[in-house]
Amino acid sequence: MGRNEELNPFAIAQRQLDEAAEILKLDPATHELLRWPMREFHIRIPVRMDDGTVKVFEGFRVQYNDARGPTKGGIRFHPKETFDTVRALAAWMTWKTAVMDIPLGGAKGGVICNPKEMSESELERLSRGYIRALAHYIGPNVDVPAPDVYTNPQIMAWMMDEYSKIVGYNAPGVITGKPLPLGGSAGRGDATARGGMYCIREAARVLGLELKGATTAIQGYGNAGSFAHKLGVELLGLKVVAVSDSKGGIYNPNGLDYEKVFAHKRETGSVINFPGAENITNEELLELDVDVLIPAALENQIGDWNADNVKAKIVAELANGPTTPEADEILFKKGVYVIPDFLCNAGGVTVSYFEQVQNFYLYAWDEKTVYERLDKKMTAAFHAVHEAAQKYGIHNRLGAYVVAVSRVAEAMKLRGWV
Ligand code: GLU
Repeated sequence: MGRNEELNPFAIAQRQLDEAAEILKLDPATHELLRWPMREFHIRIPVRMDDGTVKVFEGFRVQYNDARGPTKGGIRFHPKETFDTVRALAAWMTWKTAVMDIPLGGAKGGVICNPKEMSESELERLSRGYIRALAHYIGPNVDVPAPDVYTNPQIMAWMMDEYSKIVGYNAPGVITGKPLPLGGSAGRGDATARGGMYCIREAARVLGLELKGATTAIQGYGNAGSFAHKLGVELLGLKVVAVSDSKGGIYNPNGLDYEKVFAHKRETGSVINFPGAENITNEELLELDVDVLIPAALENQIGDWNADNVKAKIVAELANGPTTPEADEILFKKGVYVIPDFLCNAGGVTVSYFEQVQNFYLYAWDEKTVYERLDKKMTAAFHAVHEAAQKYGIHNRLGAYVVAVSRVAEAMKLRGWV
């Protein structure tokens, strides 16, 4: 397969499932049901822009499978969003909640827009419009959105408020990743990165690798990537030598200071041109000679065009879908230990689930409780995946599929669907 643009994430997601179906010897009906979204919405959202004109935005919500519980998954605001990308991401959410063994299904949403070019009030009207279009098809017991690429707690707050106005009562449980005063959970902000750090810790354990001072490169500096920088240093003692964002990357073999890089990005809008570091491209970052590589940006970053040049011992996928199936094979043969996306980045949805639990019983846990429960969940899921991969002699992604798909298949069977 060729480069980034030609890769259809949903075709990849189906192909990954097919491989797992073969190992699990899934019956044809179960396999067929799991290959496609159960339900999907394609919406148009008219938004009054600040200049008085009305712009019509195109949006999606895909509720992939709810055999294990209400569907769950974030909403992305991205200029290059496609229906098929949202389908793939909704499938991966289904496997993510299953591999974590939390009682939820999988969903994803998206709007084609460029939030960087929109004012705060335009973003608010778009967020509210998205919820108005879908209000009757989501809800705490139906489908629960959350933040994702270029959406944040403030957007979740507007969305929750819009939904609450429509149903006529305060409904915090309709959405997660909310600000704390509106029923958000302690520990949700950095949960995706934190869960990934617990996975890296466990991977180092099974590999017998020392993490203190281990050189690390992080692609992407949004919620997942920037917190991975902070927590990688704080929790594991990693030496982060390279980071990047959509504009490019920076490299300093002596390590990059999180506070300073974060402040630089806040001031200039990017990590590039950071004093004392060398500017590099996103492509170069992926091929650096480091111990740990953390893709934390978008899909299809490691493919057959560069997988052979990846030198890291551990690839910890905080992004969704950063590695193509061809690259999976190449990395597996090279002995690179990949912690697959829907395991490695599942900390976000796991604390989202904790947020739902807290919203249901109107009680808030402290940070320590959240961290401990997250650690327990991540560690258990990590070892379930590691053991499945060892047992079948397959790569970790396929191992994760085997664990997740068998759980969803079992739920469908118990419900009498198949
Ligand atoms: N968007 C995050 C993910 O891809 C979190 C989803 C959620 O919290 O529901 O896992």
